[in-house]
Amino acid sequence: MSEPAPETAPAPDAAAPHRHFIRQIIADDLASGKHDAIVTRFPPEPNGYLHIGHAKSICLNFGLALENAGKCHLRMDDTNPAKEDVEYVESIKEDIRWLGFDWGSDYYQASDYFGKMHDCALHLIAKGLAYVCHLTAEQTRDYRGTPTVPSTPSPWRERTPAENLAEFAKMRDGSYADGAAVLRAKIDLASPNMHMRDPVLYRIRETAHHNTGDTWRIYPMYDFAHPLEDAFEKITHSICTLEFEVHRPFYDWLVRNLADILPAQPRQIEFARLNLTYTLMSKRNLLELVKKNLVSGWDDPRMPTICGFRRRGYTPAAIRKFCETIGVTKFNSLTDVALLEHAIRDDLNKTSPRAMAVLNPLRVIIENYPEGQVEWLDAVNNPEDPAAGTRKVPFSRELLIERDDFMEDAPKKFFRLAPGREVRLRWAYFITCTGVEKDAAGNITALRCSYDPATKGGDAPDGRKVKGTLHWVCAANAVPLEVRLYDRLFSKEDLSDNSDGKEWGDHLNPDSLKTITGYAEPALAEYPPGARVQFERVGYFVADTKDSRPGAPVFNRTVTLKDSWAKAAK
Ligand code: ATP
Ligand code: MG
Repeated sequence: MSEPAPETAPAPDAAAPHRHFIRQIIADDLASGKHDAIVTRFPPEPNGYLHIGHAKSICLNFGLALENAGKCHLRMDDTNPAKEDVEYVESIKEDIRWLGFDWGSDYYQASDYFGKMHDCALHLIAKGLAYVCHLTAEQTRDYRGTPTVPSTPSPWRERTPAENLAEFAKMRDGSYADGAAVLRAKIDLASPNMHMRDPVLYRIRETAHHNTGDTWRIYPMYDFAHPLEDAFEKITHSICTLEFEVHRPFYDWLVRNLADILPAQPRQIEFARLNLTYTLMSKRNLLELVKKNLVSGWDDPRMPTICGFRRRGYTPAAIRKFCETIGVTKFNSLTDVALLEHAIRDDLNKTSPRAMAVLNPLRVIIENYPEGQVEWLDAVNNPEDPAAGTRKVPFSRELLIERDDFMEDAPKKFFRLAPGREVRLRWAYFITCTGVEKDAAGNITALRCSYDPATKGGDAPDGRKVKGTLHWVCAANAVPLEVRLYDRLFSKEDLSDNSDGKEWGDHLNPDSLKTITGYAEPALAEYPPGARVQFERVGYFVADTKDSRPGAPVFNRTVTLKDSWAKAAK
């Protein structure tokens, strides 16, 4: 994918960040001397592209490290040989860099630790804390019990360490088929926490791994591998989402019982994951969208993936700001996607150059303007940024305006163009509508107008006011654009709620993409792919990184101008 270079330097965002509970824990640990420096990690499983939920975790982990002059490791949690792919590894690195973060030399792969994890398993076996079990999946279910009824002990639970070492070696050397044996921890069959009832540590998988090839036939379970990875890397604060709270007793059991051979005792801390309205977030579901061709790929601008947002025109700074704004809590909740869109608008408002484009054109003929004359008028590039300067836009007798900006029978409160009414054309003149042209079917095909030469630049010397200002383009010079009007991919607010018996697939918004032809100022023809722009009064757009070419521009709508969040906040 040819993407523009990362555009932001790493930066701890927001001058006065919220003092959330994880910041507090870290401050306390540094103050008490428990740690001299902190080490966090972001541990994606490379089985898909990163999404906005991951961005929350990335901003949190890398952000905490930056704030505290610590380190944040990037670790591919690639312990499952079946699902992982190198394509995903590369995309994850690209997306984290684009968000503005850097792991320096601290890049790790869980699969590099398979040898050390195996040593840990041997150590537990030798201590009598793990055993090889041959219950079938069905038997395991039957033996499990319930939170109030203890599990039935496996007939292999009391094997000696020597026997277990021999059996584990047989698991490794291929004497057993997949499913014929597992290694289990020996903990507490009566624990109300089912994760403490002799959880599986290792299973057989006759699958090659993208990193270790066919070196291994046994692979560690996530719950066994993850605490060990944290310990090997001397992670001080292992931050994960709330579902792992019930796994924490096992996390602690494991690192405690291996304390004699582990270099550190990491601490797991849970926070609430990000859920967004109208947004599907799990990689598994996003993969399904891609596979079923419901979107054009992981980077479809409607996807909540980092690469989708990038192609949509979102900025890293806005995403970081959003992640800081939503804060970090212990309670699962649903965040309004309007807040994310608000952050995007807020950033783009300051940074996007303006241009004029008409998406649904209506021809305007200025009858008192000389035929064949073209005037190049000064237009301000960004009213929010004086340094952005001005540009020239062509004006002539025939213009295009937005069809919606005209009404033949306009009510009093309609401040745009109507027969006999006067409006301002942005950066140009006042015009008055003097007539309407129609086809045989009665459709309006053009407006006849007059202009006032004294109002050049958009102000009347006699002080007369107009209520409406319209954007426009010069018909003869307008550049046709392919415009992709993106909207929410789903029309249901809370996709996790399936009390109506429907699935997310039933809630796809049929109007999430409308492709139209728009007409813009000449300069837009050569807009570099990835460059952003505000089409005045229309919305924020970006030249598509995949499909836009000089002379054949394609623009994606990043977001409209209407800010429902800011409105609600007022
Ligand atoms: P998914 O269900 O989307 O596949 P995951 O948790 O399985 O998510 P991982 O690659 O295992 O994805 O996650 C990497 C890190 O990102 C984990 O630490 C995880 O807690 C965090 N993470 C994933 N989704 C979210 C989310 N919605 N909000 C906050 N953090 C998240
Ligand atoms: Mg996962």
